[in-house]
Amino acid sequence: MADVFHRPRDWRIDPGRRVFEVTWDDEKVTEYAFEDMRRACPCAYCAGEGAMAGTVNEGTRFTEEQTTMKEVYPVGRYGLTPVWGDAHDTGIYTFKMLRRAAGLE
Ligand SMILES: [Zn+2]
Repeated sequence: MADVFHRPRDWRIDPGRRVFEVTWDDEKVTEYAFEDMRRACPCAYCAGEGAMAGTVNEGTRFTEEQTTMKEVYPVGRYGLTPVWGDAHDTGIYTFKMLRRAAGLE
């Protein structure tokens, strides 16, 4: 797979529309609904790991707090970690994952 590794140039939390918006280094702009993003949390607790099942699935109902993005921190040079309203902050969303979720890779 040809792996052109794109990085965000900028990102923004839009609390009014409840979306997270990323502007990439190739000028593409993608956005992610808070709830979809929380549901896709890749951490071991939410998504599971190995034989351990995760706590989040398609039927999971989130509270508004759990799907309110408060802050976003960069993780190394490969990803982002959002901090949610319930203080959950263990999910690392790689740039690759975000690009793929938006249909860009
Ligand atoms: Zn999680």
